[in-house]
This record gives sequence, C-alpha cells and structure tokens, in this order.
Amino acid sequence: MNQPPTRKPAILIVDDAPDNLAVLRTMMLRQGYQTFLATSGERALEIVQRIQPDLILLDVVMPGIDGLETCRRLKMHPATARIPVIFMSARGEVDDIVAGFDNGAADYIPKPLRMEEVCARVRAQLRLGAGSADDGQKEQAERLRMIVDSMDQGLLIVERNGRIQYANPACDRFLGYAADELVGRSLTTLVAQLEPCPDGAAAMAAIGQGTREVLIRHRDGGLRAMDLTMTPMHADDGLFVALLHDITHHKQSEDALQRAALVDPVTRIANRRHFDSFLEKEWQRAIRNAQPLSLVVLDVDHFKLYNDTLGHAAGDICLQKVAQALQAHALRPTDLAARYGGEEFVLLFAETPGESAARLAEGIRTTVEALQLANPRSPTSPWITVSVGVATIVPTQLDQIEQLFVCADRAMYAAKGAGRNRVETAVAGAAWEAVRSAAMM
Ligand code: GH3
Ligand code: MG
Ligand code: MG
Repeated sequence: MNQPPTRKPAILIVDDAPDNLAVLRTMMLRQGYQTFLATSGERALEIVQRIQPDLILLDVVMPGIDGLETCRRLKMHPATARIPVIFMSARGEVDDIVAGFDNGAADYIPKPLRMEEVCARVRAQLRLGAGSADDGQKEQAERLRMIVDSMDQGLLIVERNGRIQYANPACDRFLGYAADELVGRSLTTLVAQLEPCPDGAAAMAAIGQGTREVLIRHRDGGLRAMDLTMTPMHADDGLFVALLHDITHHKQSEDALQRAALVDPVTRIANRRHFDSFLEKEWQRAIRNAQPLSLVVLDVDHFKLYNDTLGHAAGDICLQKVAQALQAHALRPTDLAARYGGEEFVLLFAETPGESAARLAEGIRTTVEALQLANPRSPTSPWITVSVGVATIVPTQLDQIEQLFVCADRAMYAAKGAGRNRVETAVAGAAWEAVRSAAMM
C-alpha cells in the first residue's frame, strides 16, 4: 500500500530575542522543517492551539510568562500535553534545568546554542514522537483486528473487480474455507445467483451496494442463505467492505413454518389447503396435456361408533393408520394424499385413467380392512373399513374442479349406500354429461 506523503515536521520556536529566532529559524528550515515563531510565552500558547506543532523549542527566560510557566500550561492541556518541548537556557542555570524537566520538558539545550547539537536533539525528539505515533497506530490496528477476528459476522475487504483482499475467521467458517484461502478469489463467484461474467467490475455492479439476501456457495458445493451488505470503504480507493450474515437457521425455520402450514397435525399428511393448491396446478396441467385426472374421496365407515366406543384418542390413532394406508398408495410425484376434514380423505392421481385409479382405490380399501382395527359396534364389519368414490376427468377449459369433487362424492355415497367397505367409480366432465343426457332421453 502507498505510504501517505510525509508531512514536514512543524517546529515552533519561542524566544524573546529576535536574533536567536532568526538563527534557529534558518537552521530549522535548512533541516527541511516547517517553522513557526513566537516572541513570548503568551503568543506561543496561542499559536500552539492552532497549529499543533510536532516540537517546541522554548527559551526559559522571557518577559511575561516565562518558559517554565509556558511549558506547565502546555502540559496541563490535553490537546498540547504530548508535544515535546526542548528548553533552551544559559549554561549553568541548574535550577532552570531541573525545573524544566519537572514541568514536563523532553530535553534541554544549553545556550549559547551549538547548531549541530540543536539539530541532533530536535531530530532525536521527532524520531521519538514518530515512534510513539506508530505505537498508537499499531495499538489501534491491533484492537481493530481483535474486533474483526471475534465478530460472528463474516467480513470481507473486496476490490472494485471483486477480488477478495481479506476475509475474517467468521467468513472462513461460514463458507468452509481455511484461513487466507479466500484471499485472491472473487466474491462474485461466491454469490450463486449471479450470471457467470468475466468482467469482475460488472459483476460487482450487479451485486450493488446496501443489503440484499443472497445464496452463497459453500466450499462443500452447498448453498447458504445470507444477508450481504456492501459498503464502499473510501470513495477513491475502490475497496468495499462486505458483511455476511448467515440467515440459514432463520430460513430453515421459515421453511419449516411454511411446511407446517401445509400438513395436517393429526395424521402428518397433506392438509386440505395443500391439496387444493396442488389440485389446481395439476388441473391446469391436465388441461394443457389433455391427460386424465382421477380423484379419490374416502370416508371411514361408522367412525362415530368407533370414537364413541374406544375414545377420541383411539380415534386419532385410527385416522393416522388410515392416512398411512392412503399415503402408501400415493407413490408418484404427481400423486397427493390429504386429510380433507374429519374422517374424510382425498387422493389425487394425475395422468391416471379411471381403471387404474379404481384399482389403486381398491388397494387402499383392502389395506385398511387388513389392518383389522376392531370397530366393535359397527353393523357392517367387525373392522374399520372405508367407503371410496373415484371420479376421473380429462378436463377442458369448460370444466370446473367442483364437478370432479361432486362426482367423486356421489360415487363415495353410492358406496355407502351399497353397504360400505366398497369402491364406486364415476366419470366426470363432458363425457359424463353425455352419458347423463343419453340416459335422460
Ligand atoms: P359413516 O359410515 O356414514 O361415514 O358414519 P360415520 O360415523 O363415520 O360418520 P359421521 O359423519 O356421523 O361421524 C364422523 C365422526 O368422525 C364424528 C367425529 O366424532 C369423528 N371425527 C371427526 N374428526 C375427528 C378427529 O380429528 N379425531 C377423532 N378421533 N374423531 C374425529
Ligand atoms: Mg364416516
Ligand atoms: Mg364423514
């Protein structure tokens, strides 16, 4: 990185003798320093506040407030306390020397001045001052590093073209990288939704600034949902700070909530809401592809008696077992079994003609019967049984989903009427209307 241009050290020279001032000034200028002059302590205190010199050459004996008092006041003020002060005093004034150091002076030069000595002592003090500034910066940098290292947010420093200059430990952890492994890679290849783009700067522009939700590629190939916040560091150096906040857990619970909203809590199969939206999609698809759609409606026989005899808790368990029997027959991705309400279930078979659906329905009926869940007071069977209606349609734009339901319900009630524990089928839609009107003629 470029060093900032070194500023000329600023030296304030304070002496009531103009000749001394002139000589010192020439000398300091020749050393490459910037100089400021004051002929009294009062004036020196004024100037110091404004220019914050790097060093003060201070005469001890002056009219008004003398050098000792000036120094004392400088050291009392926090803004000026750290500025090194070098006393200049006639040789032998030991008390002055001691008092000077007591008042916070950094060094002492005896008068008459020997210019090489003045220069050497000024240089030495400036070096010390610069050293202590470096220490301060180092300390601050160390403190910053500690903060960045212990953050639980990922922090990256990214160049204008997307190249990663630095990644903190949290970032490495989030993305599965070892320390320094991310350095040199491009942030833009980590963000999953971006189109591959050879121009890093253009890809960075696509990420933009501010906070957005992104999918970040983990080293294991998986994707993690994260909030990415991009902030330019300085307008001119083209660096960005990227903050990554892992929201996977948050997302997972959000997904879990969404899933829960689609599941029946008693039987753990799809609920009515899920089924309705699923059927809507499959209905549209069946119209487009002119494919048959079969709906199975199933109702547990004499379930009220079962509940009344064995209790509601046993009733729930019974419903769970019936649901599992149903679920076991919904094998394709386009099949869906759901609890539609009470002891009534539905099953959708997409791309399935009536005969196949009837066979599947018969399979469900026998599976439930084979469970041999005793229903002691049932007048039609010693076991829990189900009555099943199946309706099939090749839907067109003229048809409505309700027709399919009405048909399947009628078939199911027909099964009830015919003695329960049986499957009845029906054909819905235009074909069914044709059959019906022929029968009415
Ligand atoms: P049918 O053969 O004519 O269908 O007779 P049924 O007794 O099964 O029909 P009915 O509609 O008279 O009774 C349904 C019973 O289902 C009534 C209600 O107590 C019970 N039921 C509905 N939902 C639940 C549930 O979530 N848990 C339990 N345990 N019982 C339920
Ligand atoms: Mg019933
Ligand atoms: Mg019922």
